[in-house]
Amino acid sequence: MIDFGARTGGMSFALNTLRIRVKDEGRIVVRIRFHGRGGHGIKTASRIAGSAAFEAGMQVQDSPVYGAERRGAAIAALTRIDTQPILERGMISDPDFIVVADETLLTESEAGVLVGHEFASAVFVNSPGNSRALANQFHIPCRVLTLDLTAQAIELLGRGLALSAAVAAAACAMTGFISLDATCRAVRLELAELHVQPDLIERNVELTRRVFAGVSAVPMCARPVAPVPDCIHEVTALGTCESVPIIYAVGNSAARHTGYWRLFRPVIDLEACTRCGICYALCPDSAITLNEQGFPHIDNENCKGCMMCFQECPVHCIREQREVRAW
Ligand code: SF4
Ligand code: SF4
Repeated sequence: MIDFGARTGGMSFALNTLRIRVKDEGRIVVRIRFHGRGGHGIKTASRIAGSAAFEAGMQVQDSPVYGAERRGAAIAALTRIDTQPILERGMISDPDFIVVADETLLTESEAGVLVGHEFASAVFVNSPGNSRALANQFHIPCRVLTLDLTAQAIELLGRGLALSAAVAAAACAMTGFISLDATCRAVRLELAELHVQPDLIERNVELTRRVFAGVSAVPMCARPVAPVPDCIHEVTALGTCESVPIIYAVGNSAARHTGYWRLFRPVIDLEACTRCGICYALCPDSAITLNEQGFPHIDNENCKGCMMCFQECPVHCIREQREVRAW
């Protein structure tokens, strides 16, 4: 199942406020493809970026792409920004910017993170790692930017999975024409619509400011673009193997190790555990078993890090431990 919740909008704009390339007789187009995992807020990130660009006077379209029960699984979201009405629909296969909320997605070819990277001006990766090392390791020829958004989210929000504002801010900063003020307004607008508490919204705004300070604008490369369509134009969708993980055969979930999806590992304090079994019952991947004494045990090869057990444990004896990549 694919969810395309697109929205479009438009208003007049001032060309002299823009510092991006001009293509096709004055037309300005920016296509941003976000990649993350269910629970990161990637859909909201694409919406924030769209709202911020709209504030900057552009026409925008944003849409998420994900399947059923996607918590922890690879998802994508798209933001198209244009000076003209956007008649293109479907997956962005020729992104100007790729924004990656979880570096482990780079190793997951099925997530399609680097599809069309030859068109991109830059790839942003949420990572504490070195951008040059990542570019070499994954053979990314364009500019690669890294920033540890997760660490900033932990510090400011208390949760490293809540990345929507941070990821959107990285994208907006890279464009060079969406201002910090417009992005902050978009963060407030979109998070308020999701009924996020005012205090938490303001901490997201502070996170946005920090990300803006850490991500530089990237001049966009000139490249040939398709002619402007004069009617709705459906872009060929990526195959399911490129856009969402596949179920190859019935009953293969135990064989498909989803442990590398995790940004955080649940760690149980067995001294405090009351053996209620709620985590065992609620784990969507059946990654928790109970031993003979009724204590839960987590199968870390299949725990995808959705943190439902962490959220639902009635005595709060499960904590989040950040995973450290060792490629
Ligand atoms: S063990 Fe916890 S974090 Fe891991 S998949 Fe199950 S509910 Fe999610
Ligand atoms: S939900 Fe918490 S208390 Fe209950 S079995 Fe799991 S870890 Fe123990």
